[in-house]
Amino acid sequence: MSLGKSGGGGMRIEHSGIHRMAWEFNCMVGKNMHKRKEGKHHLGVLLGSPEETCGSCVWSRLRGPGPKVLRCTAAANVRVEAGWQACIGWEGSLDCLSCAACCGPAYDVVEVSMRDPVRQKQPGWVIQVDGRYQMKRRKDNHCQALGTGNKCQIYKDRPICCRDFEMSGVNCIFARRRLGLSKPWRIS
Ligand code: SF4
Ligand code: SF4
Ligand code: SF4
Repeated sequence: MSLGKSGGGGMRIEHSGIHRMAWEFNCMVGKNMHKRKEGKHHLGVLLGSPEETCGSCVWSRLRGPGPKVLRCTAAANVRVEAGWQACIGWEGSLDCLSCAACCGPAYDVVEVSMRDPVRQKQPGWVIQVDGRYQMKRRKDNHCQALGTGNKCQIYKDRPICCRDFEMSGVNCIFARRRLGLSKPWRIS
């Protein structure tokens, strides 16, 4: 994902999956995680269901840097423990076919690189804007290749950035939050 200013003065957000969003609260998480307050999750946000834990949350993943440990994508990959009671951002599963945030207006541009095979395989879906290639957009600001039932009409040939897009990764949570599909996560 890369950020740049749009002509309209707002943020133009590109869906590339290459760059990573720098979460503004990243540092705050680090400062708060060791000071657990009553009624709050270890990371400083409100607690969620007592029946659920970080370990059962779709945003927790085993990953590095270094030896793989459980980290929360929704909290800028901060380390969590599987047994911690869930926070309000807990989600049990994701369903791309009922989401499509990353193919829709969560991003303003789906980039197509010069070397992306989609340019040769599916040239009808690609346009050039200001010298750069991107997927065509519908009037409602979805990728034009997004079809019925939120299925990609060029799935086998889709752009590299779509192939690289990681479900339950940082760009996924960003897209879902931008469309209000996942709860915002704020240190309080
Ligand atoms: S979103 Fe909340 S419940 Fe899920 S892993 Fe992160 S801190 Fe735990
Ligand atoms: S934003 Fe995440 S859950 Fe939604 S369609 Fe994209 S990868 Fe799937
Ligand atoms: S090319 Fe397919 S996967 Fe990529 S944004 Fe468009 S509809 Fe989604």
